[in-house]
Amino acid sequence: MATRSRKFDFDFIVIGSGFGGSVSALRLVEKGYRVAVIEMGRRWAPLSFPHTSWSIHRWFWRPSLGLHGFFNMRFFRHATIFHGCAVGGGSITYAATLLPPPDKVWQSGSWAGLTDWKTEMPRYYQTASRMLGIIQNNILGSADQLLKRTGEVAGVSHTFYRTRVGIFQAAEAGTQNETVPDPFFGGEGPPRSTCTGCGGCMMGCRYGAKNTLDLNYLYLAEKHGAVVFPETKVVNVRPLHGAGDGSAGYAVQTESSTSWLSRQPRRLTSRAVIFSASSLGTMELLFRLKDNGSLPRISDRLGKHVRTNSESIIGARVPRCVDDLSQGIAIGSGIYIDEHTHLEAVRYPKGSDTMGLLTTMLTDGRPGVLRIAMWARNMLGHLLLHPAKAFRLFRPWGWAREATILLCMQAVEGHIEMRWQRPWFWPFSKTLVSRGDKVPTYIPKANEFARQFAAVAGGTAMSMLPEILFDIPGTAHCIGGCVIADSPEHGVVDHHHRVFGYRNMYICDGSVLASNLGVNPSLTITALAERAMSLIPSARETRWTDAAAGFTSTCSLAG
Ligand SMILES: Cc1cc2nc3c(=O)[nH]c(=O)nc-3n(C[C@H](O)[C@H](O)[C@H](O)COP(=O)(O)OP(=O)(O)OC[C@H]3O[C@@H](n4cnc5c(N)ncnc54)[C@H](O)[C@@H]3O)c2cc1C
Ligand code: SF4
Repeated sequence: MATRSRKFDFDFIVIGSGFGGSVSALRLVEKGYRVAVIEMGRRWAPLSFPHTSWSIHRWFWRPSLGLHGFFNMRFFRHATIFHGCAVGGGSITYAATLLPPPDKVWQSGSWAGLTDWKTEMPRYYQTASRMLGIIQNNILGSADQLLKRTGEVAGVSHTFYRTRVGIFQAAEAGTQNETVPDPFFGGEGPPRSTCTGCGGCMMGCRYGAKNTLDLNYLYLAEKHGAVVFPETKVVNVRPLHGAGDGSAGYAVQTESSTSWLSRQPRRLTSRAVIFSASSLGTMELLFRLKDNGSLPRISDRLGKHVRTNSESIIGARVPRCVDDLSQGIAIGSGIYIDEHTHLEAVRYPKGSDTMGLLTTMLTDGRPGVLRIAMWARNMLGHLLLHPAKAFRLFRPWGWAREATILLCMQAVEGHIEMRWQRPWFWPFSKTLVSRGDKVPTYIPKANEFARQFAAVAGGTAMSMLPEILFDIPGTAHCIGGCVIADSPEHGVVDHHHRVFGYRNMYICDGSVLASNLGVNPSLTITALAERAMSLIPSARETRWTDAAAGFTSTCSLAG
């Protein structure tokens, strides 16, 4: 039995407070460890969220430009990646759709066969579902009704479903925005208010009805003693005392993520580290640390098998629509148009029209010059023949009230790679750049469905401008890059999430996922983190020697 050492500031330092990080923090404090959670984003309270997306400085996260919100967009050659950045990670901006993936996802990718996932995972999904307060959505807005009717026209209405969501909804109609004592954790959690169906989930819930991590996992972790450092960015992690394998602990260097005047550098020590900075954040940090010599043993598979859930964003706009399409919850329903292709009806709240600036007329055809030419011809024709109609279709204001996004996801193989390189346009420093075959942005069946949706709604089918012009898909579901595998030759962590080559170092976030799920990933990230934490012994029992199987052989690596 190991004694707890006060030589270290903390037993575990968790980097990032999203799904993987918050689960880790709670389960580790429950096991008796001293835990710090370091989070680059800000802490938010319901009434501090912006009313609409036009409050760019309180919506977008880009501190170098003075934007201190909770939502970020990163542009790569192969994908535009949307992600969250806040105390509570992506849960602050996410749509709270929490779906289990089909069983087949465990049979493909580098995690296949490493354990009996199909038998093991259900109990962790169950725990994750209870903690995240998942229910079946009982508020169907006009956009959901349209999806259902389009399903009937397309002959797939039997696959229409109400989403399962982490939102606190009243059992009876007419009791919206009602505040009650903690309904989830036997009084240990915070009081909560019921959902109003305002459609604002992705702008941050101003009613406290969305079950964000700061109201469940992280709330309880802090209550049990975890210390959260908001607006603090981890910039380095180094093994202590020359023990290159981390067996003597780690020094974690941080700086302020929001202060312009002083970086406020700080050094914290811990026996163990958990990287939970999201797929993009963990890859970026580990690439930097491998490159600067702090963690040289990280597998060369870092950045491989990055997946975008094979997504495409299409939709429809109905100018002068009688119904308010922004009403409901952000993702109220979904439908399967074939075995692999899944669409969800997505909306922004009334007034949050900025996404409208990125939408344009849907255009078919293989990506390339021909499609762009066809799109330009359509646009020009529309503008010349129906100028008033075109103006109503393309003006940004009114967009959220009149538009429905159809988020299309496919559970099919397809991945890209991230590398740490000097980009041609900025040769002064290294950054993440994407490589590999392009993930298709043109899914003909999905386009056809969007057209049917527009016809049913009496509007025009739309798609995203970057998809048409640059063949770059947009995704809120970037996963992989540090995938679970049997060895450092195939991945970055083992199936206990232990980083190959190091002791007491783990990754718990979307970066470990080894196949396209075909559904939104947060429930799976939560369930996997629950499983990983269940495999760590309690503070009284630990010997601080945890490492991936085959550690001794990887120990001979330089470092
Ligand atoms: C608009 C939008 C809607 C979405 N809707 C859904 C949905 O309905 N359902 C679903 O399942 N998924 C949804 N997602 C995706 C979901 O948010 C992510 O899959 C999920 O949050 C990933 O969890 P994670 O644990 O990997 O990391 P995250 O939740 O992304 O958390 C990582 C945290 O680490 C922090 N961090 C990064 N680097 C550092 C550093 N160096 N130092 C300190 N902190 C750092 C970040 O600020 C961030 O808060 C949505 C995403 C977006 C953007
Ligand atoms: S629909 Fe509105 S009230 Fe309901 S969870 Fe989303 S933001 Fe909160």
